[in-house]
Amino acid sequence: MRNLAPYAALDGQSRGRRHPESPPAYRSEYQRDRDRIVHSTAFRRLVYKTQVFVNHEGDLYRTRLTHSLEVAQIARTIARALQLNEELSEAICLAHDVGHTPFGHAGQEALHECMRDLGGFEHNLQSLRIVDELEEQYAEFAGLNLSFECREGILKHCSVANARLLGDVGVRFLKRQQPGLEAQLANFADEIAYNNHDIDDGIRAGLITIEQLTTVPLFARFHAEVREHYPDLGGRRLVYEIVRRMINLLVSDLIVASKARIDVAGVASIDQVRRHPAPLIGFSDATCAMNQQLKVFLRQQVYKHYKVQRMTAKARRVLAALFDAFFEDPGLLPEEHQAVADRGEALAGKAGRARAVADYIAGMTDRYAILEHRRLFDPAERT
Ligand code: MG
Repeated sequence: MRNLAPYAALDGQSRGRRHPESPPAYRSEYQRDRDRIVHSTAFRRLVYKTQVFVNHEGDLYRTRLTHSLEVAQIARTIARALQLNEELSEAICLAHDVGHTPFGHAGQEALHECMRDLGGFEHNLQSLRIVDELEEQYAEFAGLNLSFECREGILKHCSVANARLLGDVGVRFLKRQQPGLEAQLANFADEIAYNNHDIDDGIRAGLITIEQLTTVPLFARFHAEVREHYPDLGGRRLVYEIVRRMINLLVSDLIVASKARIDVAGVASIDQVRRHPAPLIGFSDATCAMNQQLKVFLRQQVYKHYKVQRMTAKARRVLAALFDAFFEDPGLLPEEHQAVADRGEALAGKAGRARAVADYIAGMTDRYAILEHRRLFDPAERT
């Protein structure tokens, strides 16, 4: 392996797995994590889950799977440049969205609303729940038995109340500590990926135009630069030339600004990183401000666009209807999930039943949720 910095996540210093296992013969511990994620059922389902645009609306938009791949490759570049553990960063990024419901954030909000008095629903916690409990791959344990460092990275945020229930990975939220640098950079890789691919998808969907985007300083700067070098360039290639430069600037700035912070902090181990009073990975102030302007633009012009809002409203209705139907009458659930709901109810009453229903719904792909909705509500559809 390449030389890693002393503050990187080093295999030999891992806090280990919940169920002890012998070390892998040919791979590093974090490669093993990554491979388990890639082989998981939840990961495969990401291909049919919405990022912003509903999966069936077009084949060219990002799905959760292509989003996760873009995040992982951006993270690997950053990790490598900072001599951090590239394999761990990649594993965290590939797993970071496995807990997402169908229909993107609309689905998550709908399910949280249904679960409001029954323990709530949070995709971040759900990602951890999937790798810790729900995946069925091993004889010896439930879940994927990932390393502490990978689980720490997957749990990006959580409430104090939930942190108390989570054991080892919850502790940092109670002590207000940081995760390792590989986890910190994964959040930025996520943001860099989605801000930039949503520009591309937004233009492709006809929600925004290049002219509108020139009101965003980060875009305007590279728009001018590309036009100067290639005055006749237009269409898709113009967009990609600009977006490529934007990603490059954000990634480069993140590397340089983070390295400076790490040097000033003088951290010499991952535990010192965790105890450091503030995160060490981050943009410079100027780039952070430009990135913020881009986010505001996307929120107003893309995520709040009426076409996206219509999709969001439909998604909310579909998931709420599915939840109500299954929660009111668990006899409508497929047998396997009925058994889980019965066990949940025996253990934790209505909240236990609700959790089984939420797990079932959260695991659905967009198209499966639409099909289940039809099977339940359309008399002409086969059940
Ligand atoms: Mg993401």
